[in-house]
Amino acid sequence: MASKYFKKLTTRNTLLTLVFFALPFILLLVVVDLEISRLIKNQINQQLAGAVQENIKTIQLFLQDRLIDLGSVARLDCPDLKCLGDKEKLFLSLIQEKKWYDFIFIADLDGQIIQSYNRVLQGNISDRNYFRVSVRGQAFISDIFFSDITGTNVMIISQPILNVQGKIIGVLGASLNLNYLYGLLSDLRVGKTSELFLLSSEGLILSPTKLGAFPFAEKAFAGEINPHKGENGVITHIDYRGQEVLCAYQRLPGTNIYLASEMDLKEALLPVHRFNRIILYFFIPSFLFLVIISNLYSRRVTSLLQKLTSNLARALDECRERRRQLDLINKELENKIIESDRLARELQLSEQYIMHLIDSISLGLVGTDLEGRITHFNKHFKTIFELEEIQRGASIFEIAPVLKDKEIEEAFYRVVRESVARQLLARKLDRGHGEEYFNLSLFPILNGDNRLLGITILVENVTEKEKLRAKLAEYEKLSALSQLALGAAHEINNPLLGISSFLEILLEETPDPQKKQQIEVVLDNVYRISQTIRGLLNFARPAPPQFTKVNINQLIEDTLSFLSHQPLFKKVKIEQKFYPQLPPITADLNQIRQVLTNILINAAQAMPDGGRLSVETSKIKFEDFIQIDISDTGVGIPPENLKKIFDPFFTTKKSQGTGLGLSISLSYIKSHNGDIQVKSQPGKGTTFTIILPTRQKGRLQGKKEEVIT
Ligand code: ADP
Ligand code: MG
Repeated sequence: MASKYFKKLTTRNTLLTLVFFALPFILLLVVVDLEISRLIKNQINQQLAGAVQENIKTIQLFLQDRLIDLGSVARLDCPDLKCLGDKEKLFLSLIQEKKWYDFIFIADLDGQIIQSYNRVLQGNISDRNYFRVSVRGQAFISDIFFSDITGTNVMIISQPILNVQGKIIGVLGASLNLNYLYGLLSDLRVGKTSELFLLSSEGLILSPTKLGAFPFAEKAFAGEINPHKGENGVITHIDYRGQEVLCAYQRLPGTNIYLASEMDLKEALLPVHRFNRIILYFFIPSFLFLVIISNLYSRRVTSLLQKLTSNLARALDECRERRRQLDLINKELENKIIESDRLARELQLSEQYIMHLIDSISLGLVGTDLEGRITHFNKHFKTIFELEEIQRGASIFEIAPVLKDKEIEEAFYRVVRESVARQLLARKLDRGHGEEYFNLSLFPILNGDNRLLGITILVENVTEKEKLRAKLAEYEKLSALSQLALGAAHEINNPLLGISSFLEILLEETPDPQKKQQIEVVLDNVYRISQTIRGLLNFARPAPPQFTKVNINQLIEDTLSFLSHQPLFKKVKIEQKFYPQLPPITADLNQIRQVLTNILINAAQAMPDGGRLSVETSKIKFEDFIQIDISDTGVGIPPENLKKIFDPFFTTKKSQGTGLGLSISLSYIKSHNGDIQVKSQPGKGTTFTIILPTRQKGRLQGKKEEVIT
């Protein structure tokens, strides 16, 4: 493919080089050739014309001489033609001396030939041109023509004959020896086809030619039109032989005779052809040389180009290879970047996971180096010490100044020294929120070689726990007290029963209405004392659960009537809305009463400045459940506390509350397979909903019904 292309390139280059170098060369050759051919042709023409001129001159001279000859003998020293007889010798000498004339004749003024020499002639020539011209006193040279008088071809020259007075008395004519005339023509040129001849104005050949033309029989040209025109010229034409000839011709002055020198064009142009051949002989080797040189040159250029191209191709291949390698490296790099990205992401995720992990610990956690500079920490650590942001590398003792405690620092450096965990329990730390207690645990962070890397500190706010612990102690005290109160209530109740029985008998027996009224007042008060004590007993007595049929409406009414007398309910307006067809339920009366009491007391406590307390009962449709709604218009419960209110010991009432009411209540209701729900709007009020099944499955009923009066 490539070699084919380079072959083509070489050929093209060769051709181009040839065109560039040979074209001017050829042009030059052509120009030189043309110019030299022209020169040669001109030279030949000139030679031909020169030959004609020379011959014309010769003939002209000859004719002039002959006219002078004639003129000299035509002057007579006598008065008329009668003395001609004396002159005979003179005339004869003219003919005999040289072979110039064929014959001589003398005519009188009438044109009558009166004397002739060398030939006998008779007749009148008055109608002949030569006579008419010479009779008027002028010499004349005729054309060569056929004479009817002699019956031959003749050429006549004539002179007037003058007498002694110089008067024209006749005409002297002479016929020129044509052979002698022809003999004057000399073709100086040596050529096989060159010939010199005379011809008439009609183109008729008048003299014999070297190549054998018949005078007076043949025309010098082929065709119709005579090419010999004007005074002289150099022409080419087809001659009598049918050959193309180069012809120079000239008219003999004073006559209608032309002299022509002709030569075959082929022969005439021989030098031109020869020259052309020489040029060709010179041209062909030069051209061949040029071809070879161009070819060599092109080959050289092509080979250079080929080398260059192959080098370029190699360089290109190398480039491509490098690029391919680079691409591979790039690809590898890309993969590595993707891999490292993935690893980084994984690392980030795992770091995030660890962060979430330590964040998920509900204790404050902080990791430090051996100097106490923070390396890791969790959310709770920030929360506990109320820090917005923690700069890694910051000293833990500066960030949380509360930890700058002699004992804590001592513990920290002991862990650093001994690599043994330490714990500081219930440290009282002052964060500015009153009394607070923290458990601090310090752990050494060890690597695989047991080399200490840092310290982990766990901080736990145990204030609540501490407080609970204190409360529990108080509660235990209270429960002991309530046991005492219970005993006391029993002691009071028994004599009170006696007193009331006595007063009832006394009321019946006393006739005096005034005394009756007084007894009634006392009895009323005794009843009230009894009722109070009973309530107290029911509340505090840890009675075993006893399921009975309970009329809930009745129970609520009784409980409310008991509580409404308490000072707590002074400012509280109580509303009741009982569902009349509420079925009696199976339940532990005391437990339910205690639940109601707890919730009602809470409601009252939520309304220290008074409010409305409404209690509503209802039956849940299509189900064996009843519902008790206890609503107040009190302070409400903030959402974050809602989850906690059923926790034991959760209270917002400081020392006034135990935080046990709702937790005990829920446990009672759950043991009845029921539930307590709360809805609250802080600042508006709270509704507690107790749901209880009407029946307790698989439970034996105890007493029929307990009636509270
Ligand atoms: P205590 O009454 O001793 O605080 P409880 O278990 O009875 O304990 O109640 C727990 C907490 O629930 C109360 O401290 C109070 O904050 C909240 N609470 C209970 N009932 C109401 C209510 N009706 N209105 C507002 N807060 C209430
Ligand atoms: Mg309570």
